[in-house]
Amino acid sequence: MICCAECFSDLEIKVSIESLNHKGECPVCGAKNTWIYDSELDGENTDFKELLASVIGIYKPEEKLDDTFPDDAKRSIEEHLQEDWNIFKVGKEGIRKIAESLIQSSADLDEKLLIQKTGIPDLYDEMYLQRNSIFGKYQWDDFRKYLRNENRFHAKYINLGLLSEVLQDTVSIIPKGTSLYRARLAKNEHGYGAGEMGAPPDDVASAGRANSKGVSCLYLANKKETTVKEIRAGAFDYVTIASFQLDKDVKVVDLSSITHNSPFYAETDKIKFLINERHLRNIERDLAKPLSQRDSDLDYLPTQYISDFAKYLGYDGVKYISTFDRNSYNLALFDTKICSCTYRKNYRIDNLDYRLNPV
Ligand SMILES: [Zn+2]
Repeated sequence: MICCAECFSDLEIKVSIESLNHKGECPVCGAKNTWIYDSELDGENTDFKELLASVIGIYKPEEKLDDTFPDDAKRSIEEHLQEDWNIFKVGKEGIRKIAESLIQSSADLDEKLLIQKTGIPDLYDEMYLQRNSIFGKYQWDDFRKYLRNENRFHAKYINLGLLSEVLQDTVSIIPKGTSLYRARLAKNEHGYGAGEMGAPPDDVASAGRANSKGVSCLYLANKKETTVKEIRAGAFDYVTIASFQLDKDVKVVDLSSITHNSPFYAETDKIKFLINERHLRNIERDLAKPLSQRDSDLDYLPTQYISDFAKYLGYDGVKYISTFDRNSYNLALFDTKICSCTYRKNYRIDNLDYRLNPV
């Protein structure tokens, strides 16, 4: 079987193929002059097989799943590999070819994975979940409801020891001197002065997705255009955009990082990784939701809880992808004094690039 680096999205797998250092045409995805892996030649020269087998190996064929295993969670191996992970760039047919070759040539992988539906038993094992999932047998939505309607300060559905471990794996450093931006809607063309562009003082700070009411937090983005979208500026609005520079390296919980997004990045338990990565994605999705006038402060509680915990652990902020621009990130900075406003300018929004999405 021959496949190539272009068949994959996962960086660790790409590297394991590129390290073989030979190029050719890929029969799986059709790419030409690309880094290829040839199972006949390269089997022992790279950890490619081992990496993929460590993921395929957590699935069991239907005959080995309990009666209690939900039917709607059973899928073919290629469907699971496509839906559960961000490993492959090729579609189901390509995944099937690669998985088939790996399973047939491996002594440890069960060939029944290729003919029966498959599943991961541990995902439905309460004991396993209690020990390995941030929210135990519950989901992020259960936790949200609990905080909102039952108990705000002493949450039951969360394993803080595990959360701290999982957050530790996402950490990244944003270097001193990095420029970040904040925009504010202004009443007229005079906008705001530099002194008004920082975070509001503690007691008057309103609630946001990463801070409770009364706790100051500075929301920044790495692109000017993103800050304007984040505040939902409309056509002909005036905005002031300020540039801030970090006065020191900041250590952040980085929910946007693609390196931690690989199950091969560290020697992790793949099932534990899969479960908690899903929780992190949900947390990031809620953090990145733009504020709306229809929101109640209660909507912000769950992400505030997670951010407060990151702050308590000593991190400087939380970094997440912007919903408005997948190529740029936002940063909620807890200590608002570790950056300084270096520049500000007033703008008028001239046109909005409205894209219509049928509903
Ligand atoms: Zn390919």
